[in-house]
Amino acid sequence: MVMDSGSIRRKFLEFFEKKGHTIVPSAPLVLKNDPTLLFTNSGMVQFKDYFLGNATPKSTRIADTQKCLRVSGKHNDLEEVGIDTYHHTMFEMLGNWSFGDYFKKEAIAWAWELLTEEYKLPKDRLYVTVFEGDAKENLPFDQDAYNFWKEHIAEDRILRGNKKDNFWEMGEMGPCGPCSEIHVDLRSEEEVKKIPGKDVVNMSHPQVIEIWNNVFMEFNRKADGSLEKLPAQHVDTGMGFERLCMAIQKKTSNYDTDVFTPLLDFIGQAAGIKYKAEEKTDIAMRVIADHVRAVSFAIADGQLPSNTGAGYVIRRILRRAVRYGFTFLNFKEPFIYKLVPVLGNQLRDVFPELESQKDYVGKVIFEEEASFLRTLEKGLKRMEGLSSISGEQAFELYDTYGFPLDLTSLIARERGFTVDEEGFKVEMEKQKSRSKAAAAKETGDWVLIGEDVKSEFIGYDFLESEIKIIKYRKVKQKNKEQFQLVFDRTPFYAESGGQVGDTGYIESANEKIYILDTKKENELIVHSADKLPENLTSSFNAIVDKHKRQLSMDNHSATHLLHAALRSVLGKHVEQKGSLVNDKVLRFDFSHFAAMTPAEIQKVEDIVNVKIREDIHLDEKRNVPIDQAKALGAMALFGEKYGDFVRVITFDPKFSVELCGGTHVKSTGNIGLFKIVSESSVAAGVRRIEAITAENAEQFVRTEIALLDEVRALLKNPKDLVASLKSLSEEKHALEKKIEAFNQEKANQLKDELARKALKSNGYSLILEKVSVPSADALKNVAYALRNQFDDLLLILAADVDSKPQVAVMIGEKLASTNAYHAGNMVKELAKEIDGGGGGQPFFATAGGKNLNGLDAVIEKARKLIQ
Ligand code: ATP
Ligand code: MG
Repeated sequence: MVMDSGSIRRKFLEFFEKKGHTIVPSAPLVLKNDPTLLFTNSGMVQFKDYFLGNATPKSTRIADTQKCLRVSGKHNDLEEVGIDTYHHTMFEMLGNWSFGDYFKKEAIAWAWELLTEEYKLPKDRLYVTVFEGDAKENLPFDQDAYNFWKEHIAEDRILRGNKKDNFWEMGEMGPCGPCSEIHVDLRSEEEVKKIPGKDVVNMSHPQVIEIWNNVFMEFNRKADGSLEKLPAQHVDTGMGFERLCMAIQKKTSNYDTDVFTPLLDFIGQAAGIKYKAEEKTDIAMRVIADHVRAVSFAIADGQLPSNTGAGYVIRRILRRAVRYGFTFLNFKEPFIYKLVPVLGNQLRDVFPELESQKDYVGKVIFEEEASFLRTLEKGLKRMEGLSSISGEQAFELYDTYGFPLDLTSLIARERGFTVDEEGFKVEMEKQKSRSKAAAAKETGDWVLIGEDVKSEFIGYDFLESEIKIIKYRKVKQKNKEQFQLVFDRTPFYAESGGQVGDTGYIESANEKIYILDTKKENELIVHSADKLPENLTSSFNAIVDKHKRQLSMDNHSATHLLHAALRSVLGKHVEQKGSLVNDKVLRFDFSHFAAMTPAEIQKVEDIVNVKIREDIHLDEKRNVPIDQAKALGAMALFGEKYGDFVRVITFDPKFSVELCGGTHVKSTGNIGLFKIVSESSVAAGVRRIEAITAENAEQFVRTEIALLDEVRALLKNPKDLVASLKSLSEEKHALEKKIEAFNQEKANQLKDELARKALKSNGYSLILEKVSVPSADALKNVAYALRNQFDDLLLILAADVDSKPQVAVMIGEKLASTNAYHAGNMVKELAKEIDGGGGGQPFFATAGGKNLNGLDAVIEKARKLIQ
């Protein structure tokens, strides 16, 4: 019987549990406090600090399955995914670790035992590699690994590998060391006879692939490129779960295992196309089956698609999937979101975070798909009418409409025209160097001062403390130089959980250095300063900006109250999706599908203020075992990484219990006042509340009242302000109507009067008059009304329009057809008398001017003109 993927995963964990390993959960896909990485790209990422000595593991032997994403940075497989059959964007990495415990001998023996005895992979289809050494870096051949392998496997199956394949590095910097890979040959007997497996290992053959890498961590790669020996030796292994399933289930593609078949079946049915019908549609189906995993789990871990950073990477992955579906499977409507429940159900036992948020995740994906499909259409429209596409146009399609170049080329080919692909690449390069220049950040190596002790955060209890600097480094960005300092202990809170980092200063007898920000880098608390103390070894007094901290605490505690109030008013589906807390505002994003009504907003605000007035004491528990904390009712956030011991913040056990590392008020009364200032939408299914507290809320109320007072005073302090404003506005409206009617009446009178004065002469009825009218419109209306009355009209009016001079000339229809008079030309001439200018059509023209006293002269001149 074939082992299913669930059993394969379980067996791995059980095997290492028996070998004394503690099984831990996967860390989130999306990283929060790591400036060097956006996503977890291998199992070791969550243990980085253990290798570097910044933190101590709870156990020296650990094993797990880790969600990994390789779509950016040093490990980026995106372009391969779907095209080949064994690289994914998101994949599971099974791993076992030794932190200063066992080393090469045991790691190698256990790997062999698990693969050949438990999983029963045929020994004659396995190959292993060892590091051959590297002269340039002065690294030796890994003789030890070779010797240990020799105990299990024939020597001609132990291959030597170069630095590229057999020296593993997490990123540009960080822990690294020689590694030993295990490869499996899944080809048919005939093929194996033709070419021996050892000639195909590491040759990108889709059926001769690496499944497991055992890394022997010994070094740390520093920013200057040099290697430094780590304080202890560690083992870090990673086995691709999907590839292992392929080998055990005797398939030749990861997509033929039960990890992917449910997704492919679903896609095939929806498209009405069978998987394995045609290469083009196969690739599209694989791309979608793969990408939906990456996108769904990233969103479940709290990363919304967006225009920057990790969010942009997620957006691009989803768009890649949408456009494969659009082009090759004829998916013109959102489709990928329908796969979310299939996937959630499939992985519910291992990664329940998707199953429990499937509605939310589906909704986010649906909206994202729908909006991209719209831009796809717009982009297609943009291409209409073009007969060739320049590099710049292709880049615009890419940049503004999200069209990858291959899509543009494909559509162009269909329509029989060309794309300047070289020109596109040039534009792309320009863009890259633009963004590189903006983001370039040089980080120097840490310079140690004295002993590298583990630094301690004491800011829950103290806002001042004597400290010593233990290390510093220089950081340069956009030509601005800053220094980062690490202290032996610190009262400065490092930005996390949405709460901003503390600022303040450190001071010795001779100098004072301002701390501009405090951030976390994994476990390290890093303080930014714009200069370096002259005497780095002296003792400093570290002083936190207390006022700013107090206001941040007010906002943070209020955020907890708000969270609880939202859940009680809107329902238990409300979950935190993001939060920002600083000394000015609090911003809280949460899952909820509709805009809140004013009544709901009011109710939430009221509940929070009641809780403030109840002056509930803070109940802060540190180092609570995670299970116990959850039993207390504390909600763990998806995408947040918790240790085994957590801090629990409670304001009334029946109201608000949260896992939180932030700083809080001693009792809710400190918050003073809570005021919601806005409620809005941030993304599909996510709402945002912005609110203020304490003196900021007071200030807000004060300003609003002052404004009201001013209005009241302007209205002469009426009893009922609203009624008074209403009647004022009604009165104004009524008056306007009256004036309008009055003007109309006057204009009619004027028209009649002018009509009476018309001088019948040979060929025309002349009206030449000085008049006074309330508006330019009225003048025009009078002119047109007269035109209707006389078809041989020759009208010249010199008007006083609300104390501004204007000239109007209108010529009747019959007279106009004789072309004897040209209104535009006449007006131009007449306007000179009022220091103005103007013009218009041959039958009607007007001109404004500056000299009101010139009106009589206009009449004089007009008389002459007519004669
Ligand atoms: P490859 O050369 O095949 O890309 P790698 O050398 O990048 O693999 P490692 O960084 O050593 O791989 O990762 C450990 C294991 O994780 C690999 O042996 C492989 O089984 C698996 N793995 C790596 N990248 C992927 C991926 N993109 N999709 C699925 N599995 C992967
Ligand atoms: Mg790789």
